Amino acid sequence: MVICAATGNAKKLAELRRILELAGHTIVSQKELNITLEPEETGTTFEENAHIKAAAICKESGMPTLADDSGLEVDALGGAPGVYSARYCGRHGDDAANNQKLLENLGDVPPSQRTGRFVSAVCLCMPDGRSLTLRGECPGFIADKLTGEGGFGYDPLFIPTQLPDQQGNLHPNTQQITFSQLEDWQKDAISHRGKVLERLQQELPQFLQQE
Ligand code: IMP
Repeated sequence: MVICAATGNAKKLAELRRILELAGHTIVSQKELNITLEPEETGTTFEENAHIKAAAICKESGMPTLADDSGLEVDALGGAPGVYSARYCGRHGDDAANNQKLLENLGDVPPSQRTGRFVSAVCLCMPDGRSLTLRGECPGFIADKLTGEGGFGYDPLFIPTQLPDQQGNLHPNTQQITFSQLEDWQKDAISHRGKVLERLQQELPQFLQQE
């Protein structure tokens, strides 16, 4: 299926593209369609915000449109930064400042209490108004320092609970490797985004039949 990706975040787009293209879809970004609209994320849940973004960009693109709303929930901070992950420091999309603020707010919370999860809600909107919204999660811990160069956002601080091997089996992350230190295929195998897009792939045939 040819799908418009409703995001202006180049790193997120790259992940959506590599996962969905591997599953046989063709991804066209809203930028490639010259759609500059950035809908206001006024929802209080990831699901609401994913729907707001997908529905607004779908109207402009006139084609099946997918949005991801995602973020990091930290238990010791009552679920923050949550839906405010992109603007935790007060500015939108300043990853370095967001990571700094997270480290400051966690202070000397001990490792056993630095639990959290990445969450991704994706919404696929069709030009006829129908939509499918799904959620994926990846549990882990928040490190006390930045490690690794890859990925984006909070990746250098996020230690997933488990790591995949080449066969797709999961093992405890005993070496405390962060998302930023993983190969793309490793992150995609366990990430919130990888999981929710796998569910999308499973549910898509039935959703499309409901036309
Ligand atoms: P959104 O564009 O409003 O969905 O904001 C998502 C924000 O959550 C990003 O700017 C990142 O700060 C964070 N985030 C979401 N997914 C990831 C990820 O896979 N790695 C690191 N940070 C992420």
